[in-house]
Amino acid sequence: MSPTTVNTDATEITGGTGQVMIEVEKMHKFFGDFHALKDIDLKVGQQEVVVVIGPSGSGKSTLIRCINRLERHDRGKIVVDGIELSDDVRNIQEIRRETGMVFQSFNLFPHLTVMENITLAPRNVRKIPKAEADATAMELLERVKIPQQANKYPGQMSGGQQQRVAIARTLAMKPKVVLFDEPTSALDPEMVKEVLDTMKDLANDGMTMICVTHEMGFAREVADRVVFMADGEIVEVGSPEHFFTDPQEERTKLFLSQIL
Ligand code: ADP
Ligand code: MG
Repeated sequence: MSPTTVNTDATEITGGTGQVMIEVEKMHKFFGDFHALKDIDLKVGQQEVVVVIGPSGSGKSTLIRCINRLERHDRGKIVVDGIELSDDVRNIQEIRRETGMVFQSFNLFPHLTVMENITLAPRNVRKIPKAEADATAMELLERVKIPQQANKYPGQMSGGQQQRVAIARTLAMKPKVVLFDEPTSALDPEMVKEVLDTMKDLANDGMTMICVTHEMGFAREVADRVVFMADGEIVEVGSPEHFFTDPQEERTKLFLSQIL
């Protein structure tokens, strides 16, 4: 590739095992007449970490919401771990189990303890016995480094701790992929690092991840690839280094100048 060519090909897996985990092909999404996602082609490899950046309203959330079927795409196809997304209810349940999602607002149940938040879906959806679900939850709390918070309620914890509980809750369903939608945007600055560190640990453990985040330090350290979106399109794709040193598109340069 000559240095002046803008790479918009997001189908070249650059990390992980090289095997494909998520495949999005010629995908379009409309909200009424509004064309929110335009001809998206993206592949994510097993154990690959892809960071998605772009201005507000560019379609980042819609993209990952389509991948776990919180939104239905209108054209093209999406395949997750060999399962093509369709309107079949069983298919939707299967996809939701494979893909965990972590939101900006942690969405914990305020009236349930940390332990109950984490074990709710494994017990009710996966029918895991209580003792086993509790043991797994404790292991996960160790992993996100807050085992001593097990019996607290969300309101008794900091934002960073709540987000780590939300990550533990997602992992309790043993997803093959975790999608993060600006997981640190609602946090006070001093809590951002603990959540990014948790995400980094997860990446190092080999989780396949798509992270919508503007934390470029995280991108530089953890991402295999960065995808820049604007106006519902994938505008530029490259390594984190590429975005720091050699962004090509005017829209990319403008956006980076605003966040870096
Ligand atoms: P981002 O996450 O990059 O900020 P979104 O994916 O949330 O962007 O939104 C992309 C565009 O789609 C925006 O213009 C937004 O207003 C529009 N949009 C998102 N969700 C809906 C919806 N449910 N109904 C109508 N428009 C929507
Ligand atoms: Mg968003």
